[in-house]
Amino acid sequence: MRIDIITCVPSLLTSFFSHSILDRAVKKGLAEVKVHDLRDYATNKQKQVDDYAFGGGAGMVLKIEPIAAVIRKLQAERSYDEIIYMTPDGKRFDQPTANRLSMMTNLILLCGHYKGVDQRVRDIFVTSEISIGDYVLSGGEIPAAVVADSVIRLIPGVLNDETSALSDSFQDNLLAPPVYTRPADFEGHSVPPVLLSGHEANIEAWRAEQSLKNTLEKRPDLLGDLD
Ligand code: SAH
Repeated sequence: MRIDIITCVPSLLTSFFSHSILDRAVKKGLAEVKVHDLRDYATNKQKQVDDYAFGGGAGMVLKIEPIAAVIRKLQAERSYDEIIYMTPDGKRFDQPTANRLSMMTNLILLCGHYKGVDQRVRDIFVTSEISIGDYVLSGGEIPAAVVADSVIRLIPGVLNDETSALSDSFQDNLLAPPVYTRPADFEGHSVPPVLLSGHEANIEAWRAEQSLKNTLEKRPDLLGDLD
């Protein structure tokens, strides 16, 4: 899978993608993430990518020409499954959306800044819009990193233990059970004995029960769809 991220602050993203699981996915050739600096596509001498809003009011707006130029250049190189604009008024991001996106081949994530992008970018180029939650950030870079991270870790082979992503929260509408590691006893706080029993079926049953208990306590709304 290839993800192209368009931003006016590329430095916010480059360090994020050069670490841990994401870096490993790129090195293994399972994912490719390219960050594009909007300023490289600015048409005037000042490398200006934003301008005042028509009609007045506080806040700058990202101009359409540099965004159109980078999207058209990318589209000339390959076809894209989706061109996604990160925006607080988009569809709320969730695990089913991450699962769906992880099956795509080429994605563009467009990061806004300031007041956002010229509406015509959304009308002409954008195929879907994602919000990472009901709050406003100063740029779409963190949202794009959130989406790319959650999508890339689902690609088979990215996580060492391939079943690991399946046992995470939200898969199957359930939250994850608690996890423990050594020591088995920390200052009198011991690990549930079943986890030390070596009895796989019992361990699995305990985890399923804890998952359900956790979900009932913290997110009963997730169980709404189940009978
Ligand atoms: N004026 C806009 C907010 C602009 S915030 C509004 O009220 O809707 C600047 C940029 O940050 C946005 O263009 C978007 O790309 C990004 N952004 C901010 N909050 C976000 C969120 N919750 N989800 C996704 N992107 C977000």
